[in-house]
Amino acid sequence: MVWKDSEKARVYNRDYREKNKEKQKLYKKEYYEKHKEEKKQYDKKYTKENSTRIKKYRKEQHQKKRLEVLAKIDPAMKCSMCGCDDTRFLEINHIKGGGMKEQKSMKKTDHGMSTNFVMLIHRGDRGVEDLNLLCRVCNSIDHLERVYGKIGLRTVWKKDSELF
Ligand SMILES: [Zn+2]
Repeated sequence: MVWKDSEKARVYNRDYREKNKEKQKLYKKEYYEKHKEEKKQYDKKYTKENSTRIKKYRKEQHQKKRLEVLAKIDPAMKCSMCGCDDTRFLEINHIKGGGMKEQKSMKKTDHGMSTNFVMLIHRGDRGVEDLNLLCRVCNSIDHLERVYGKIGLRTVWKKDSELF
């Protein structure tokens, strides 16, 4: 009967795959154990020889994530005080303050605090409802006004055409 044969074949194939999987696993493990030191050395050498490239890659990846996070907070990607849209100058701001406190409570790792913060938002582990974007200048003014009250400073953003 055709059905029986195909059923047999199915079972056989499944068994074969299962057995092979175990074998593969074992083989991989043995291979890894045998070449552990070699691999370590190789990785070390690779990292050393390519450190500039790796650093550059990591930086680019982070920049990409940072821009995605900025867009998450404000799709217009503009400073909410002066309208500056140069993403190099934009910073994540806590609308009601408390940013330092939150950053301080975050675990210290080899990354900087703001890097961790960006990652947290990027992963979706932190909402953005209480955040907005401020350029570095407006962020400083915001900080000063929190400490000293209204100080009357205002950022004026000149477009390229008005610079000269
Ligand atoms: Zn601004």
